[in-house]
Amino acid sequence: MDYCKYHPLDGATYFCRQCNIHQCDRCVNDEKNKRHTLHCFVCDAVVESLGSANTVTPFWRRLKEAFKYPLNSSAMSLIVITSIMSVVAVLMPFLFVISIVMYLFAAGAMLKYSFTCLERTAMGEMKAPDVMEAYQGGIKLLLQLILITIVMSVFAGLAAYYVGVTLGGILGVIAVVSFPAVLIRFAQTESMFEALNPLAAIALMAAIGLPYGLLIVFMLIMMTSVGVLHEWINTILPAGAFLVQSIISSYYMVVMFHLMGYMLFQYQQELGYSARSDEDDEQPERSDLERMTAKMDVLLKEGDYEQLVGLYYQAFKQFPNEANFFDRFFDLLYVCKKSALMADYGLTYLEFLLRKKRFDKLTATFKQIMLLVPDYLPDSPAMRVQLATFLRQQGDLKLAVKMLNGMHKLYPEFADLPAAYTLLAECLNDLPNMQTQAEKCRQMAMQLARRAEAKKVELEMPQQAKRITEENPANSAAPKGRRGPPPAAPSGLTLALVPLDIHSADKN
Ligand SMILES: [Zn+2]
Ligand SMILES: [Zn+2]
Repeated sequence: MDYCKYHPLDGATYFCRQCNIHQCDRCVNDEKNKRHTLHCFVCDAVVESLGSANTVTPFWRRLKEAFKYPLNSSAMSLIVITSIMSVVAVLMPFLFVISIVMYLFAAGAMLKYSFTCLERTAMGEMKAPDVMEAYQGGIKLLLQLILITIVMSVFAGLAAYYVGVTLGGILGVIAVVSFPAVLIRFAQTESMFEALNPLAAIALMAAIGLPYGLLIVFMLIMMTSVGVLHEWINTILPAGAFLVQSIISSYYMVVMFHLMGYMLFQYQQELGYSARSDEDDEQPERSDLERMTAKMDVLLKEGDYEQLVGLYYQAFKQFPNEANFFDRFFDLLYVCKKSALMADYGLTYLEFLLRKKRFDKLTATFKQIMLLVPDYLPDSPAMRVQLATFLRQQGDLKLAVKMLNGMHKLYPEFADLPAAYTLLAECLNDLPNMQTQAEKCRQMAMQLARRAEAKKVELEMPQQAKRITEENPANSAAPKGRRGPPPAAPSGLTLALVPLDIHSADKN
């Protein structure tokens, strides 16, 4: 038995020749394509189906389902009708020929149906077939089966007569034991000669092994139970006993043939064919998201980080709201200590958390990133202000200052610079010996606010400003009429800045 490389407890259902690995249903790419092929997640080659051989539940664990198998209106009506027919046939011995025909017809129909059940189950169909698909050729099948039984009995009898009672007895036992194998062969080939080929029967029994013996034991128990049930019912309801017994026998027959078929299905690999259970097909088709997650698992287990990172970035684009991907990638980088990748991904993840309003995780995540990338600062002014606000609330003033320091140089176009510097001033104010710096920041905030105001006016009156410039080209240096970057000197932004190293300021 082969197991999935990535799920060592699950039976394999596919095989990739290129990678020489076995996979389960989850670990192959089942994306729809024109050729209806499935592909390997790792090398993208077409994978081979192994059928259900490795994943089938053994028949002895499936007895409950097996007994439910005939419980549908179609199969049950056939069982009841054929039982009534055989009872009527027995009750009217005066019309000998008609009664024989009726009996044969009933038994033949039941047998044909049971054989169909065996065939279908062996091919992976776990629901009882429709009766109408199985009503032809019943009597012929019955006669063939009787003939097979006679041939086998005669063979054992002849052996007993000519060779000796002991050998004959042994052959008789072998005949009884191999009867289910002969039945299975007959159902599969529909040829009496194939069925009676002792080598074929032995090959079948050898391929299945011990469970075949289990099946025989199980058959004997069921046959005995019919007798016991008959005794019971006979004492309670003598008139209906024959009918009830007939119904129960037919019911058991369908169960038995289903089990025999199931045994073939279970040992399909040993018997040289491959089939999938229709119960597998009932599973809903995987979504792109589930498929992507499965591929990530495979790539991770293969250690193919390059492809994995590419796939994650693809996932972020395709599923921008899927927290699972964002969280998992962050955890992966954190656990694997991939600092370069983390420096890249940090902002993406922080922005995702902000977008999803997971504020509680924001500063904690930032500090986690800092453990990998000690001098990490997100390259986004809005994110910096956001983080600084939370850090200040949590009393982590130094980190908040670090976050905001020098922002007017880094992001001169950031609209909320005045607010950022007001926040910085507030943080510094609460730090010891930082009041002077705080005051400077406050002034800077005011200057920035004024500049922003001036810019706003400029934007609101572009036409007017243009006209002034055109009329007085000599005045073009005036800050109000100027477009493009503002002059450095007049706005006074060269003001002394907060020292970058807060720790040295602390020591003073
Ligand atoms: Zn797997
Ligand atoms: Zn492969």
